[in-house]
Amino acid sequence: MLQSQLFAKTKKTAPKDAQVISYKLLARADFIEQSFSGVYRFLPLGFKVLKKIEDIIREEMVALGAQEVYLPALQNKNLWLETNRWKTIDPPLFKLEDRHQKEIGLGSTHEEEITDIIRHRIKSYQDLPFFLFQIQNKFRNEMRPTGGILRTREFLMKDLYSFHADENDLVKFYEKVKKAYFKIFQRCGLSVICVEASSGTIGGELSHEFMVLSLCGEDEILTCKKCGFAANVEKTGEIKNCPKCKSKLEKKSCIEVGHIFNLGTKYSQVMKAVYIGQKGKSQPIVMGCYGIGLPRLMAAVVEISHDKAGIIWPKEISPFDVHLIKIEDTPKVKRVAEKIYKDLQKTGKEVLYDDRDRSPGEKFADCDLIGIPQRLVVSERTLEKECVEVKKRNEIKTKLLKIKSLKID
Ligand SMILES: [Zn+2]
Repeated sequence: MLQSQLFAKTKKTAPKDAQVISYKLLARADFIEQSFSGVYRFLPLGFKVLKKIEDIIREEMVALGAQEVYLPALQNKNLWLETNRWKTIDPPLFKLEDRHQKEIGLGSTHEEEITDIIRHRIKSYQDLPFFLFQIQNKFRNEMRPTGGILRTREFLMKDLYSFHADENDLVKFYEKVKKAYFKIFQRCGLSVICVEASSGTIGGELSHEFMVLSLCGEDEILTCKKCGFAANVEKTGEIKNCPKCKSKLEKKSCIEVGHIFNLGTKYSQVMKAVYIGQKGKSQPIVMGCYGIGLPRLMAAVVEISHDKAGIIWPKEISPFDVHLIKIEDTPKVKRVAEKIYKDLQKTGKEVLYDDRDRSPGEKFADCDLIGIPQRLVVSERTLEKECVEVKKRNEIKTKLLKIKSLKID
């Protein structure tokens, strides 16, 4: 991509209402823009990152054996009355009326919808287990949508749902999902802690959250250095000592980037999603659900991976692999830079090529702000040695590499 053609206008200052660093940097680098409170636009750079996160998540869901579905955002009120969540879910549903004055909900989560799908299809234990997932927009009527894309009212979310004949089978799959989640977050450049959590209005008896340590996080966890116990403060209350080994607990702020629930038979019982067991008895299906909010994950990455100058994208979710910059507009510099641009693309690299007629200072500042992991610079000075200058975004040192044998990982 030629930077002269890129639909992005970097800014020197952040939006006035921006409090968290992720929103400041993502807005300044023109990845995102607020439309109105808690509702955001993803511009080409931001959408590229979001899509890469989506691809990683989809790959790991498919690897678990899950199949993708596409479900309506407009929700049938009757289904929500069956579970009694039409009025009780927190945050409350966005509700609207159609032209016949019939009430409709905007989906904040899809347990009712998915349980309705499976109750008409599952007949016997031989139909179990199976797993469905969706990556779609969800809507939450938040009291205080703050923190840029850390907490929004409309956002892209992955939800996986699993259906089992018994609790044992669910527990086995639940542990597999935990592993898949660690892999997803690691591929996105995040190191996470899995903690015991409170289940809120999604319900079930057991749930776990995946937490990224960050001072700007809204959640607090208690961790035990000695035995590894970790829980959300909401789950355990303000206790001082570890419930497992009695050691002193440490309290840390963090961002929740994933939440998984052992739902048990909460939904299948009230919505009569049952199957016929091996002994011919009708039993409720045992369910789990597993969520990841994509924009929040993206914001969490920026919160922990940046410096004064801008974002530092981890390799797998960076909008581009390489930021190629030409300094000086001489015919030779131009010719060599264009050749490197084309050659790198041939090797499958996504390259952002700064072909603009701007000062070196301006180009370097934009490059640092946007945060692509590798920077290549071509100038008269580097060409004297038949080299390009290579710098990693997370390092200070630069090195010269021969153009002839240029290899970029
Ligand atoms: Zn302990």
